[in-house]
Amino acid sequence: MQKNDMAVIEITDIGVNGEGIGKVDGYTLFVKDAVIGDKAEVKVMKAKKNYGYARLMRVIEPSEDRVEPRCPFARKCGGCQIQEMSYERQLAFKAQKVRGNLERLGGFDKELLDRVTEPILGMDEPFGYRNKAQFPFGTDRDGNPVTGFYAGRTHDIIANTDCALGVPVNQKLLEIILEFMRAEHIPAYDEKTGKGLIRHVLIRFGFTTKEIMVCLVINGTKIPQSEKLVEKLAAVRGMTSITISPNTRRTNVIMGETYEILWGQGFITDYIGNVRYQISPLSFYQVNPVQTEKLYSQALEYADLKGGETVWDLYCGIGTISLFLAQKAGQVYGVEIIPQAIEDAKKNAEINGIANAEFFVGKAEEVLPEYYAEYARKHGGENARADVIVVDPPRKGCDPALLETIVKMAPERVVYVSCDPATLARDLKVLCGNGYELEKVRPVDMFPETVHVETVVLLSRKG
Ligand code: SAH
Repeated sequence: MQKNDMAVIEITDIGVNGEGIGKVDGYTLFVKDAVIGDKAEVKVMKAKKNYGYARLMRVIEPSEDRVEPRCPFARKCGGCQIQEMSYERQLAFKAQKVRGNLERLGGFDKELLDRVTEPILGMDEPFGYRNKAQFPFGTDRDGNPVTGFYAGRTHDIIANTDCALGVPVNQKLLEIILEFMRAEHIPAYDEKTGKGLIRHVLIRFGFTTKEIMVCLVINGTKIPQSEKLVEKLAAVRGMTSITISPNTRRTNVIMGETYEILWGQGFITDYIGNVRYQISPLSFYQVNPVQTEKLYSQALEYADLKGGETVWDLYCGIGTISLFLAQKAGQVYGVEIIPQAIEDAKKNAEINGIANAEFFVGKAEEVLPEYYAEYARKHGGENARADVIVVDPPRKGCDPALLETIVKMAPERVVYVSCDPATLARDLKVLCGNGYELEKVRPVDMFPETVHVETVVLLSRKG
C-alpha cells in the first residue's frame, strides 16, 4: 500500500495506544480512533514495508463496542484516546494490556497468570473523575487568549474549557482567567518566541472537602493587576489557595520550581479514606480520588499488616500510601525525590497524629542502598531488614540499584504499584529471578477514556 491509498478494512485488534488494527491483503494498518469490530473506510497516511498508519475516514459498520463520545473534541484532543470505545471494552483492553506485558516482557506463563490475576477494578461513572487539570494558554488567530488541551502529539491548543474528565468548576475558573487576560491585555505565553506571560494554570479540587487551588504558571515573576484577578477567583465558592509559579525556562516542564502565594494558603486539603492530606501546587497527588482509595485499599490488603511490621514506601510522594499503611504497621519509612512533597508528607503525618512514619528526601535508588550500608556499619555487619516494601515508581519503573537492595533486605512481601505495565513486567522479572514469587496481580483503572492503566502486584519471598 502507498500513501493516500484508500481501503476498506475490518478492525480485528487493538494496539497499545488504543488504536484499531486491521489487515488489507496481509498488510497491517494501524488506525487511530477505529474500534475493534468496526468496518471502516481508511486513508493511508504513512506506508512502511510491512505495515502502515491510516486515518479513519468513515465508519461503514460500527462495532458493537463503539459509543458516541461525550466530548466533541474526543478525536482531536490528546487527552483521551479511547472515548469512542464502550467502557466495558476499555476495561477488557487494559486488563489484556497488563497481561500481555507480563507474558511477553515478564516471561510469566499463562497458567500462573490465570491463577494470580484478579479482575480489573473499574469505575461506575468513568467521567468527571480528575481532581487536577493543567490547562495550557495560547493565542488564537484573532489575537485572543485561549485555553484548552493540546491536540494529539502537538502543542496546538484546542480551545475547550469544559473537559469531560474534569470537574465542572474548571470552566468557571478558566473563563475568569481568560476574561481578566482580555480586559487587562495580559498576553499568553508563546512557546515559539518565549514571550508572553501566562503559560499554564493548574487547578486542583478536593473531592471530599470541595476546596479549590488555582496556580498560575507564568513566564516572569508577577502578573500586572493581579489583585483584580484574585478578587474574582477568591469569590468562587471553595477557593482556598491562589498562587503563582514562575517558570521562565524554555522547556516542556509545566510547573516552575517554586511558588508564591497571592491569596489564601499554599495548599488544599483532601481525604483518602480517613487520612487527611495537605497538597501543595508542586507535589504529586493521585488525580483520581475515587480509584485511588480502591488502589490503596488493595495495596494495604496485599501488605497484610498485623501491627509490628517495618515497612518502606518508596516513591512516596506526599506520603499518601505511607500514612495509609502506618495505621496498621509498626514503623513506616517513606522516600521521595521532591523536597516539597516530603515537607507535605511530614505535615500530613503530623495533622493525622501519625507518629510511626519517617520520611527521607532523595532518589530511592540512592537512599535505600545508603541506608542499608550505613545500617551494617552501625550494627557490626548486621543487615537492615524490612517486612514489607512498597514501590510506586513513575513510568520508567525502578532503578536496578534499588531492586538489588530490595532483594538484599529480603522483605516477606513486596507490593508493586505501577503506572506502566512494560516497566512493571521488566522489574517483576528481576525480582522473581531473585527469590520472589508472583502472588497477585490487580489492574486498576485510574484513567478511564485513556490508554493508561495502573496495576498493583503482590510478590512474596520464596521459602
Ligand atoms: N506513592 C505516591 C506517589 C507516586 S508517583 C502516591 O500514590 O501519591 C511517583 C513519585 O515518585 C512522584 O512523587 C515522584 O516525584 C517520585 N520520584 C520520581 N523519581 C524518583 C526517584 N528516583 N526516587 C524517589 N522518588 C522519585
